[in-house]
Amino acid sequence: MDALTGNITSEQDRWKYLDKIRTRPGPNTNRQVFDGSNVVEYMSKMRVLVIGAGGLGCEILKNLSMSGFRDIHVIDMDTIDVSNLNRQFLFRQADVGKFKAEVAAEFVMKRVKGVKITPYNCKIQDFDEDFYMQFQLVVCGLDSIEARRWINSMLVNMVDEEVEDTYKPMIDGGTEGFKGQARVILPTVTSCIECQLDMHAPRAAVPLCTLASIPRQPEHCIEWAHVIAWENEKPFPKLDNDDPVHINWLYQKALLRAREFNIPGVTYSLTQGVVKNIIPAIAATNSVIAAACCNEALKIASNCAPFLGFPDNNYMMYSGNDSIYTYTFKHEKKDDCPVCGNLARELTVDPTWTLKELVDSFATRPEAQLKKPSIRAEGKTLYMQSPPGLELQTRPNLEKTLVDLGLEERQEIGVTDPAFATVMFKFKLKFAIK
Ligand SMILES: [Zn+2]
Repeated sequence: MDALTGNITSEQDRWKYLDKIRTRPGPNTNRQVFDGSNVVEYMSKMRVLVIGAGGLGCEILKNLSMSGFRDIHVIDMDTIDVSNLNRQFLFRQADVGKFKAEVAAEFVMKRVKGVKITPYNCKIQDFDEDFYMQFQLVVCGLDSIEARRWINSMLVNMVDEEVEDTYKPMIDGGTEGFKGQARVILPTVTSCIECQLDMHAPRAAVPLCTLASIPRQPEHCIEWAHVIAWENEKPFPKLDNDDPVHINWLYQKALLRAREFNIPGVTYSLTQGVVKNIIPAIAATNSVIAAACCNEALKIASNCAPFLGFPDNNYMMYSGNDSIYTYTFKHEKKDDCPVCGNLARELTVDPTWTLKELVDSFATRPEAQLKKPSIRAEGKTLYMQSPPGLELQTRPNLEKTLVDLGLEERQEIGVTDPAFATVMFKFKLKFAIK
């Protein structure tokens, strides 16, 4: 630092304080795994993958590049919408319509010299194992459970116990309004996203009778328009959640119903939120969670201090809903996890159910959440969603009961879903009349 002008005079000065943290042992440093002389070079060569360049992703890219990582890659298929601008601070009005990954990468590279960010404007599913193998660390800032589950099963499946390089630590951040979580997953070693799936139970559906008879909240009126009015009147052949004309139709219907029952609060944007199941994002919650994730990345990369995930605590929850509360705990690995465990998971079913009822139930079970399940049992295909020929051939089974299909108590069934191509979910049937 130039003492007179305060200008930064050398690259070393710029990173002075960060380097003090990462190159010198502190009171909690495990000296057996820490090598301060090597850290700066190691981190600048380390290849880190960031998934998502939205609310969390912008923060993560900024934090990682300020923490000494220099070879960062980012995947996001989305383009910038004007509604992103209140929190996705790497984007400006003029960027609306452009790819998030590209604009974010360019912005951070301009701001932090020496950092290279490689953007990919596509889906994570567009890449295979060879692509993911090149990274040493994965940091996720996603808003979709499905994408998390996909990358999780990819990273778990990539592990080859005999090759150290195949273990890719994954740091996952998530927020919902004032709440959030940060967790670290060491694939096959600690509890994975799929083990923790029940932490993200699908939102409880409002009973149809409430919608049909006595709505109490503006959301009930919107769901009524969405589920009942639309079906009865079919104003357009198929509901398109992204078509403002369709959303407006639902909004007007919901508004009429709300007036009838004297319920205030139905707005166009609430209608859009309910129909598209949008989770409200708050800028500062994103900052808190992204900061927690990136500090773990710095600690994992440098070993300068113990990090979340090993050996015990692996899950940090944060809640700002009622004052501030945060809690860090160990989420246990599950032996019957379909991705990282070996055992079949117990599945309580009613033997008088039809196969269709079983198929439909997978979407709402917190531990499964599969929208398009295909089912096999002991080499026999019970129902296949695709290809069309096989679907047609197995469709008559949907009307048969589980008993009629010859399924027995304790029998194992295998379930696959196109969203998780590499995973076979194994379940062991447990009969209970409901
Ligand atoms: Zn697992």
